[in-house]
Amino acid sequence: MAEEKVENVVIVGSGPAGHTAAIYCARAMLEPLMFEGFMAGGIAAGGQLTTTTEIENFPGFPEGIGGIDLMARMREQAERCGARLVTETVVSVDLSQRPFVVTSESGETVRTRALIVATGAIARRLGVENEEQFWQRGISACAVCDGALPIFRDKRLVVVGGGDSAIEEALYLTKFGSEVLLVHRRDAFRASGAMQKKLRDNPKVKPVMNSTVVRAEGDRFLERVVLKDVQTGAESAVEAAGLFYGIGHKPNTDFLAGQLELNEAGYVITKPGTGVTSVAGVFAAGDVQDPKYRQAIVAAGSGAKAALDAERYLSGS
Ligand SMILES: Cc1cc2nc3c(=O)[nH]c(=O)nc-3n(C[C@H](O)[C@H](O)[C@H](O)COP(=O)(O)OP(=O)(O)OC[C@H]3O[C@@H](n4cnc5c(N)ncnc54)[C@H](O)[C@@H]3O)c2cc1C
Repeated sequence: MAEEKVENVVIVGSGPAGHTAAIYCARAMLEPLMFEGFMAGGIAAGGQLTTTTEIENFPGFPEGIGGIDLMARMREQAERCGARLVTETVVSVDLSQRPFVVTSESGETVRTRALIVATGAIARRLGVENEEQFWQRGISACAVCDGALPIFRDKRLVVVGGGDSAIEEALYLTKFGSEVLLVHRRDAFRASGAMQKKLRDNPKVKPVMNSTVVRAEGDRFLERVVLKDVQTGAESAVEAAGLFYGIGHKPNTDFLAGQLELNEAGYVITKPGTGVTSVAGVFAAGDVQDPKYRQAIVAAGSGAKAALDAERYLSGS
């Protein structure tokens, strides 16, 4: 009977982290197999950048490049280097066995000596009325990615959230907007004291407490948001060119179900500066292990690290 094939390395996820890991693993002759996902977590293969328009901060593209185009190029490069791609979502892994067992949605199982988890994270959305219509036409979940766009210059911007990242987004946006309203549904922020002090020290950010955003309005681009006072129920419209969500991300780690050490928010814990996880032979890269930076170039860099870590692990060094 023919012996069942064992892969050297399986990569789960197909954003900048997964594709960079695939390129590095393929060039190291590891013949990587990637599960690129099929609408995993509601996102197309290629990851979060396929949900946006122009990327202006990825080096090598002085004129900027469309998110879908950039990811198509990464995919092409990974395949050209020799990575094999399967357009399926991984539903479970068994890390208690060696080789590890990876099961995809068709029920197929693959055995592998090393595993790279690069499944990203999804920005939580508020689900306000007209959100789809104005997504990337004024509504964004990433101030660092989109704040510098001309549509936001010298305009009033609205940030939603009450934690550190919402305040960070609001402070960052003061570089571009005329003023920034920070809308929070409670009567106090839950951000750290240091962050709240920075907020108080910046006159361009105006907190709007006990309020939520219920609707986005405009013609082609966002022009107004409708706020609701949670105590009185009264609604009021404010002019705004931007609505930024700072309400957190959900890492795509459900399929790991208790097999890998995760933090309380569900991010894979890696040894600082590496892709090494709590299980020998399992590595993680990109936003799935990075609640802090969440940028494509950082994800790509960590994909390279995870691949190099996997290569060293497989060669026993
Ligand atoms: C709207 C928007 C605009 C952005 N703009 C910029 C920008 O201008 N510049 C910048 O640097 N960054 C930007 N970012 C951030 C950037 O997209 C992320 O930092 C980067 O994509 C993270 O890459 P990643 O490889 O870790 O994961 P992701 O890009 O999230 O890719 C992960 C992939 O894995 C798949 N997957 C998940 N679970 C499974 C599974 N179980 N099996 C198989 N596949 C799975 C997902 O479907 C997804 O396709 C933006 C993000 C958003 C949401």
